[in-house]
Amino acid sequence: MISVEKALKIILANSRELELEKVNILDARTRVIGEDIFATRNIPSPDNSAMDGYAVRHTDTKGISKKRPLQLQVVEEIPAGKIPQKKLRKGETSRIMTGAIIPPGADAVIRQEDTQKIGKVVEIYAAVKKGQDIRFSGEDVKKGELVISRGSIIGPAQIGMLASLGRTFVNVYRKPRVAIMATGNELVDIKSDPTPGKIVNSNSYALAAQVLECGGIPLVMGITKDNKSALQKKFRAALGADVIISSGGVSVGDYDLVKDVMAEMGNTMRFWQVAMRPGKPLAFGAIQGIPLFGLPGNPVSTMVSFEQFVRPYLLKMQGHKKIFRQTIKALSAQKIEKQAGVKHFIRAVVKKEKNQYIATITGDQGSGILKSMVVANALIILKDNENKINKGEKVTVQLLDDSLFKAESFQL
Ligand code: AMP
Ligand code: MG
Repeated sequence: MISVEKALKIILANSRELELEKVNILDARTRVIGEDIFATRNIPSPDNSAMDGYAVRHTDTKGISKKRPLQLQVVEEIPAGKIPQKKLRKGETSRIMTGAIIPPGADAVIRQEDTQKIGKVVEIYAAVKKGQDIRFSGEDVKKGELVISRGSIIGPAQIGMLASLGRTFVNVYRKPRVAIMATGNELVDIKSDPTPGKIVNSNSYALAAQVLECGGIPLVMGITKDNKSALQKKFRAALGADVIISSGGVSVGDYDLVKDVMAEMGNTMRFWQVAMRPGKPLAFGAIQGIPLFGLPGNPVSTMVSFEQFVRPYLLKMQGHKKIFRQTIKALSAQKIEKQAGVKHFIRAVVKKEKNQYIATITGDQGSGILKSMVVANALIILKDNENKINKGEKVTVQLLDDSLFKAESFQL
């Protein structure tokens, strides 16, 4: 049996970054970009107006105010998208709209609110400084500038930037294909009526959802009976995947054959059994070079061990640098006692109350109690030697989602 830290170290040392693939910019969302993006053009391209108003020569407006207005001759109208035709001379102005190109001769924009149109002339009521309300060429992005660096996660703003540079495709890390197989003679498919002694295979679905949540492609391979030839056949069928996950059959029971089959199929077994609860019987190795996580079958063990080991592994494959869940300190809402020498992952709800985080256990913590995960937003992590926690004592919690940081009403 090895520690959680040692297990994680071995697992991550066996993770490799996948190749890049070219995808449409929208399909790059939430993924890690595998190239540096340099601006191929200035944005904005020519100097343009930040306001609806009048393009002027700032020197013409010197000393002008509401009390000392000035009339300028309107020589042209420049809507956005049009190329200005007239160069401004002294005493002249061009009507200009937001986003339209500044005409030659002009060096400022006076906003509409400080003007009044009177026939062919416009009366202005304010002085403007050189450059006022002009968006200068390249003020957002200069040609040649690094705008998105390799390794960044692509979100809406990055997608907008790529679009503004005319990029329709971009290189991101490929999504890992993850084969998911459930093992157990007692398992039946989701559509079947579980007759006495039978259990619906829920793990495959929970695992597929977990794989999707960390950017992978789940390949759900159904249920396999607890016999060697069936397991071998299913493992062979899974060899086209980048990672294989099985659930069940890794414990010490007579029908727990996954480890044996792993060994018989040219497996490199890295470890079996981790000092944790839930999730102790985890097996990790590879079959013909394809990494294999043999997760324990109890639904909570399956999910918690995925969280601790498979999730960081899959994120690393996809080029992510931040591969672990955030941990914070919270006050325990109750006394907790646990077994010594084993790390515990206790399902909890963490809430913020009066500027403190409070962690409340979600009821029965049996590894078959999936409801404890359904209501949880965090895991209280108790180290191997942290065996007794008093009510109100500080504990480390690992956040399973960002619900703690979401609000129901607008807050400043
Ligand atoms: P095992 O690790 O194979 O001994 O499985 C432990 C227990 O987990 C079984 O007795 C089942 O109750 C449960 N279990 C195993 N596989 C699944 C599955 N795919 N879906 C739901 N429960 C499962
Ligand atoms: Mg089993």
